[in-house]
Amino acid sequence: MIYADNAATTKMSRAAIDAMTACMEQEYGNPSSLYALGQHAKETLERARAQVAAVIGAQPEEIYFTSGGSEADNQALRSAAEAGRKKGKTHIISTAFEHHAVLHTLKKLEAEGFDVTLLPVHTDGLVRVEELDAALRESTCLVSVMTANNEIGTIQPIAELGALCRARGVPFHTDAVQAVGHLPIDVEAQHIDLLSASAHKFHGPRGVGFLYARKGIRLTNLIEGGAQERGKRAGTENVAGIVGMAAALEASAAHMEETAARLVPLRDRLIAGLREIPHSALNGDADHRLPGNVNFCFEGIEGESLLLLLDDRGICASSGSACTSGSLDPSHVLLAIGRVHDVAHGSLRLTLGDDATAEDVDTIIQNVKEVVEYLRGFSPIWRDLQSGKKPFIL
Ligand SMILES: *Cc1c(COP(=O)(O)O)cnc(C)c1O
Repeated sequence: MIYADNAATTKMSRAAIDAMTACMEQEYGNPSSLYALGQHAKETLERARAQVAAVIGAQPEEIYFTSGGSEADNQALRSAAEAGRKKGKTHIISTAFEHHAVLHTLKKLEAEGFDVTLLPVHTDGLVRVEELDAALRESTCLVSVMTANNEIGTIQPIAELGALCRARGVPFHTDAVQAVGHLPIDVEAQHIDLLSASAHKFHGPRGVGFLYARKGIRLTNLIEGGAQERGKRAGTENVAGIVGMAAALEASAAHMEETAARLVPLRDRLIAGLREIPHSALNGDADHRLPGNVNFCFEGIEGESLLLLLDDRGICASSGSACTSGSLDPSHVLLAIGRVHDVAHGSLRLTLGDDATAEDVDTIIQNVKEVVEYLRGFSPIWRDLQSGKKPFIL
């Protein structure tokens, strides 16, 4: 089997499994308990916090553990919005291709009276700093732009966007779930005030993540209860999960450059191979993209059929369509970069793992070529395109 869906989730690293196993066996105390067993768990928790903080250039007391990326996104947005409302500022800027954890929270905030501007992301899948500049208002209380997109892998100019927000005194949040552990992040150099991350996207366990909030940013609780996480996130801490996350992040960060240097040529080999398929196109900029991300549209077919047939051949991939929601709406990300519905339906995302090989890439190319040709063989849309009844777009 070739697992090429690492943007959906990753296999846990040995370092994370070993750290978690030891923690579950030995450190079962509640970190809030005063006896030694509890205090030992507390120390372990604080060590993990310092490890995580170090990787992104933050202070340990600026890290809040959460249940994952979605919770961190929700808390970041809601906190900045409520702080803004107290000052009479109710304008929020984000982008059209954010993760649903951000977009759906923004929808809720809109219903509560906030005014939301979504910046366009252009055909290259990148936002423009000048466009953020033009969109900023006196009343803007938050800018949220993801570091790297989960579907098309494009990497945004975070340091420039952050610098602009800092100069205008507007809090800057980034959903860095796809970037942490894969790209260098420095909250100081990039002027980031709030950042979301999730362990299972960098070989840690699912159900745990963190929110970085710069000192001075007031957080709003999503969960009320005990005084855990300095009173900002109630609930007995998932110590083993947090320890697994810290171990996974440390391991990923230690090999980040090597991994990227190995993956980029493999990614480019995969892109070159898939480009040989007629009437196909890469989605998003070829260079400003995550080391393992490849996302293509193939005209005349449906992404769902493509990925199911690839699954039969032992390849795990993903399509842009929101089939999980029971609908066949094409991906909002592909629509945001200007793909029309028909073309967006024929999308395929392949996200390589750290251990991907050139042989894997060649196997994927061969299989995608065969399956696309097979599906086009009985696609009515393809027949119309071939006969000239419908014009080709790609
Ligand atoms: C996966 C992902 C999330 C959600 O993280 P969970 O830990 O699964 O809640 C948010 N944003 C991006 C960009 C993601 O890729």
